[in-house]
Amino acid sequence: MKIVFATANKGKLREAAEILGPEFELVTPADLGITQEIEETGTTLEENSLIKACFLWDRTALMCFADDTGLEVNALGGAPGVYTARYAGEGCDFNDNMEKLLLELAAAGAVLPEQRKARFRSVVTLIIGGKPYTFEGIMEGRIATEKAGCGGFGYDPVFIADAYPDRTVAELEDHTKNAISHRGKALRQMALWLRENL
Ligand code: IMP
Repeated sequence: MKIVFATANKGKLREAAEILGPEFELVTPADLGITQEIEETGTTLEENSLIKACFLWDRTALMCFADDTGLEVNALGGAPGVYTARYAGEGCDFNDNMEKLLLELAAAGAVLPEQRKARFRSVVTLIIGGKPYTFEGIMEGRIATEKAGCGGFGYDPVFIADAYPDRTVAELEDHTKNAISHRGKALRQMALWLRENL
């Protein structure tokens, strides 16, 4: 089943391909010659996920999906949330974002594990025939006090999932992360829906 995935992030693409399996052939906007960056102007994950999926549907009229993910940290009132990708400012990288997060948590006096509770939340929007369908996945955990590991991408070196409390997500094997991750949960729901409804 051919399906367009609204991403330019290689880490996300690799994960989605492993989660969905060989039954789905993932095509990216770049594969279709679409290189324009999609502006994420929404104020919620739901809105941004829909904006990204609609952008592709409008240009391709092919079955497509987008995900938008936020890291919600309790001690920071749910921040960075919808601003997770740009937490340290436009043009900053994953490392800058993680450094900022560790500094903000230290400034908030959140030193104990229970004060550093957080979750990743992914909202996936699938568009078929112009109609949107939404799926959500959550991975509960906490923010580590320092970075560890080099697997995964994004904030994985500072995120400790409740399912594997003795290491960061960046220290897990890809298939282990995918089995418990926000994106894994949301995409497996989407795959199930597609199998049942197409
Ligand atoms: P996006 O807007 O959905 O691309 O995701 C926002 C940001 O969340 C990304 O730039 C990453 O920094 C972060 N992120 C998304 N998924 C993950 C993940 O699985 N692990 C770590 N960070 C992630």
